[in-house]
Amino acid sequence: MKLAMIGFGQAGGKIVDKFLEYDERTHSGIVRSAVAVNTAKADLMGLEKIPEENRVLIGQSRVKGHGVGADNELGAEIAEEDIDEVQGAIDSIPVHEVDAFLIVAGMGGGTGSGGAPVIAKHLKRIYTEPVYGLGVLPGSDEGGIYTLNAARSFQTFVREVDNLLVFDNDSWRQSGESVESGYEEINDEIVKRFGILFGAGEVGQGDEVAESVVDSSEIINTLSGGGVSTVGYAREEVENSGGDGGLLSRFTGGEDDQVDTAHTTNRITSLVRKAALGRLTLPCEIDGAERALLVLSGPPQHLNRKGIERGRKWLEEQTGSMEVRGGDYPVPDSNYVASVILLSGVTNVPRIKELQQVAIEAQDNIEEIRQESDDNLETLVEDDDDELEPLF
Ligand code: GDP
Repeated sequence: MKLAMIGFGQAGGKIVDKFLEYDERTHSGIVRSAVAVNTAKADLMGLEKIPEENRVLIGQSRVKGHGVGADNELGAEIAEEDIDEVQGAIDSIPVHEVDAFLIVAGMGGGTGSGGAPVIAKHLKRIYTEPVYGLGVLPGSDEGGIYTLNAARSFQTFVREVDNLLVFDNDSWRQSGESVESGYEEINDEIVKRFGILFGAGEVGQGDEVAESVVDSSEIINTLSGGGVSTVGYAREEVENSGGDGGLLSRFTGGEDDQVDTAHTTNRITSLVRKAALGRLTLPCEIDGAERALLVLSGPPQHLNRKGIERGRKWLEEQTGSMEVRGGDYPVPDSNYVASVILLSGVTNVPRIKELQQVAIEAQDNIEEIRQESDDNLETLVEDDDDELEPLF
């Protein structure tokens, strides 16, 4: 499906930049337009793929291009004040050619955390296309203020979008890596998972004919109804001898081919299980997910309807959902069969409850420390017996 992507804040801009790079590399055609919005000039200058005319610096009169310093209330205020400047960049998007908006932001900082829900509310008021969020949760080692920002932004962002796709940095960070190289890998993971998912609905005419192709309306229907979503992924390397032999073998149906078919089907069902039970973008219990979409990508001769059907049934049993959709996304020159599972409307998410708990503690601590330092300052400045008088 074709998306208009808006990256808010540093993480948001970098991830949208990565989506453009992915699009160029794979010709998936998912990014119809890309806009980056920030209060920090340096972050906008660091982007590589987003066209310069689509980079919007907001809040110049308030923060002079230096960012909001993890103050997400200020981030929200500035986004609201300068919404016309953001709209100016969105005006250049041919909205009739996009299937949906995707607003990308790190939720622990200031600009994206505060601004993303504001722009979501604005877009929903103006356009009929769905508005989705891709929200990145901070690592638990980032500290209380980031957790508090994320918890408050999460509440607001979920309310303002048609669906919030969540990626949790915490479950993906690797020890011993610098923060920057860590983000490089994490961003690759984000773009790969969501790239296959959204790319599935973009199989054009003249492309390899899929057995049961995923349409963008199936992605939209899976995301409809709101709430929070998570994405699973698994892949296996396969021998790719080219599309023709595979297509032919589908019709000839000799004994060898039957073995092949059984093998293909088994591979697909096990990839579906691995994707659902492995690491999700937001770890959660899959039981109780309201809707799901299963996408199998890879060389067409390694995809079959039976495998996807079995995978779908298994997902129905595991989630208890009656709305499990599935299809394939043929990528003729790939050496992998990959399974991507979108679980939408998940509600049993211990990570969010834990985030909220830590955020509440941080909020209480911040209040206590502020009170204490006010008292301490007063003790320092005032002489003990009040013998001195200030000048005025
Ligand atoms: P903002 O510019 O004020 O919106 O804040 P940032 O985007 O710099 O940071 C917000 C949060 O996003 C941080 O607390 C990190 O958890 C996360 N973050 C920052 N950069 C990246 C990145 O490149 N990739 C990912 N996945 N997360 C990031």
